[in-house]
Amino acid sequence: MSDYRVLLYYKYVNIDDPERFRKEHMDLCKHIGLKGRILVSEEGMNGTCSGTIEQTDRYMEAVRSDERFADIFFKIDEADGHAFKKLHVRYRPEIVSLKLGEEDHDASDLTGQFLDPVEWKEALEDEDTIVLDARNDYEYDLGHFRGAIRPDIRSFRELPEWIKENKDKFMDKRVVTYCTGGIRCEKLTGWLIKEGFEDVGQLDGGIHHYGTDPQTQGEMWDGKMYVFDERISVDINKVDKTVIGRDWFDGEPCERYVNCGNPECNRQIITSEKNEHKYLRGCSHECRVHPRNRYVIEHNLSQNEIEARLSVIGENLPEKV
Ligand SMILES: [Zn+2]
Repeated sequence: MSDYRVLLYYKYVNIDDPERFRKEHMDLCKHIGLKGRILVSEEGMNGTCSGTIEQTDRYMEAVRSDERFADIFFKIDEADGHAFKKLHVRYRPEIVSLKLGEEDHDASDLTGQFLDPVEWKEALEDEDTIVLDARNDYEYDLGHFRGAIRPDIRSFRELPEWIKENKDKFMDKRVVTYCTGGIRCEKLTGWLIKEGFEDVGQLDGGIHHYGTDPQTQGEMWDGKMYVFDERISVDINKVDKTVIGRDWFDGEPCERYVNCGNPECNRQIITSEKNEHKYLRGCSHECRVHPRNRYVIEHNLSQNEIEARLSVIGENLPEKV
């Protein structure tokens, strides 16, 4: 029996005094006892948080009692405990980081057509529709919609630039986009329309909503969905589940994420526990032998032990200078 819940939600709506709102919201969450990460801006609120069923009920009721958020859509996951260690309520100029700068626009004015889960599934099945993943590459690599395009970028922020460069390939087609909870697409699809794309759609409520819809049940989603909390990933497809994540080191099917042990790299890599030990949690030779490698520090490995591990994979410690 799950006694906890994780909430995922956002709304683009004008907040006149975001600093005051932030402080009051912080007090509210503290008072209820929630943990999580909430961003507040002039353009709205974007949050994910965890708490008991009772706490999350109280929170949702409190948020909806503010008429600006009366129609906010909460995506709810059951959980066995908190998905966050702390509570952060922060001000940000943008509630989703697309860094559009001068090209920024009001997402509550301009955005692509919203597709419900059934309409989205039809779009996936339509060969003439371009399905664009609007997330970071490491999210795509763990799971994505069948046939979706993986933009060749490290971070979502680089997406507008990538689209400009690849515009010719899908300018005249219908383009639909998806992301975790829908927020990145609300901004991105508006930008696509401004760029001259005429037929633009987005998955309403994001992958999360699609996975919990009783009709689609996450069908045509491969792998798992990356989430930005301690769960790291969740299941979406309840019809024909597949594993598409591949181990960074040996390419074997795997769905386990770790951060590279080199704090200066911190790249998210998919790898088994066995390979994490074998490769000292380093994504490259440089990261394995980095003087501040967190794996080496956590396991208190001696120079001899490091050397022994490296020799198994045909590597050596760099010469001392
Ligand atoms: Zn690395």
